[in-house]
Amino acid sequence: MAASSRRSRRSSLSTPDTRSEVRAWLEETWEPDRPLREWRELLADSGWGCPTWPKEWFGRGLSQRDEAIVREELTRAGAVGTAGGSAMSLAAPTMVEHGDDDVKSRLLRPAITGEHTWCQLFSEPGSGSDLAGLSTRAVRDGDEWVITGQKVWNTGAVKADYGMLLARTDWDVPKHRGITWFALPMKQDGVEVRPLQQMNRYASFNEVFLTEARVPHANVVGGVNNGWAVATTTLMFERTMQAARLAFVPDEAPGRCAQEARAEAAAYAQTYVWYPQRAGRADLVLESHSDDPVTRQRIVDVYMRERTMRWTAMRAAEARRQGKPPGPEGSLAKLAASELARRCAVAHTHLRGAHAMLAGDVIHEILVSVPAVSIAGGTDEIQHNIIGERVLGLPKEPSVDTDVPFREVRRN
Ligand SMILES: Cc1cc2nc3c(=O)[nH]c(=O)nc-3n(C[C@H](O)[C@H](O)[C@H](O)COP(=O)(O)OP(=O)(O)OC[C@H]3O[C@@H](n4cnc5c(N)ncnc54)[C@H](O)[C@@H]3O)c2cc1C
Repeated sequence: MAASSRRSRRSSLSTPDTRSEVRAWLEETWEPDRPLREWRELLADSGWGCPTWPKEWFGRGLSQRDEAIVREELTRAGAVGTAGGSAMSLAAPTMVEHGDDDVKSRLLRPAITGEHTWCQLFSEPGSGSDLAGLSTRAVRDGDEWVITGQKVWNTGAVKADYGMLLARTDWDVPKHRGITWFALPMKQDGVEVRPLQQMNRYASFNEVFLTEARVPHANVVGGVNNGWAVATTTLMFERTMQAARLAFVPDEAPGRCAQEARAEAAAYAQTYVWYPQRAGRADLVLESHSDDPVTRQRIVDVYMRERTMRWTAMRAAEARRQGKPPGPEGSLAKLAASELARRCAVAHTHLRGAHAMLAGDVIHEILVSVPAVSIAGGTDEIQHNIIGERVLGLPKEPSVDTDVPFREVRRN
């Protein structure tokens, strides 16, 4: 609560002439044929790339409303934005919130320019929903930490330069208090990444084996043993944004810069090709027609859910623009998205009948991709628990392992 009200105070600082300022800067600075990296350095230095970030860290301390104005002006000028992906939607905002000056000065700029890509190394074979039960071990060795353990379901890890790593740094305190958030360099001998083939034939996530991998102490974000608070921030960004944000490239903008940005976005998007299908493709349901009354009910069901979800998102966006702290809409949106995807899958099967099962068809891809929405970024059951406890104020789930040293907790 304290953090969110701090954020809302910061984001309520807006300048009345953002539009004219950014427009003047773009007129002076935007050259379509500049190399992409060089342009993004200018975005970082000017603060126009990340307008809501603090002034001292590549931002301008502006509001969400002003950010929307900046984006409109970038589009109008045909200019490219910062890099996207987990680097900018999860890692960088987490570091802005929790990183010390050294971390911010070394790791934010390459995230903005796209020089570093990131993946999330949270889940383990024995701890997904029970994330605080993780057992990847970090042991201090001088100026470094030595990491040993296994992570799983790590999207994009095969290409990433850095991992947002959670590892256990103290086994003698309760499980939430002995975890640290590290910025782990992925390209090293101790890190082995193995892609996992999914039932929809893609391989967007991976297993990551860590065998005495090394990470500098300087890459601890938010302090040793304070990783749970830092991870909560990362997850908050993940649950409200749902998917890694793509880089902002105006359609059909001419010039070298936009061309390089489009190539970068296309390479990045390969990992997420099936994401529209995993959301259920309500668009395909809503453009369908049927004379069968039951199928028509299914189509209307999708229509109502899709509209309600959109209106809730609009209400949340408007509240953010007015500088209000984040409400329950984030948790509700994730559940609503899961439910919509499932209802779409049912509607598709009513519309297509047995044909829905034929491999190679987009409908088949939808049916085998939809289950992922209810799992990624926290399962539906965990979302229900969060809403029950934090939004509705219901009693907490009973727990037997939160008050004892983690070393004494029974694990399989
Ligand atoms: C598309 C996709 C992308 C992903 N990307 C990443 C990534 O980049 N990085 C990363 O670290 N992880 C990633 N994950 C992993 C994801 O975060 C985990 O799969 C998720 O947190 C669930 O953990 P689990 O798979 O271990 O299931 P489990 O925790 O074993 O859950 C199994 C079942 O038990 C239920 N359950 C568990 N605990 C409770 C409870 N307390 N109350 C009620 N029900 C409960 C669950 O809801 C679920 O139905 C990704 C997953 C998917 C599907």
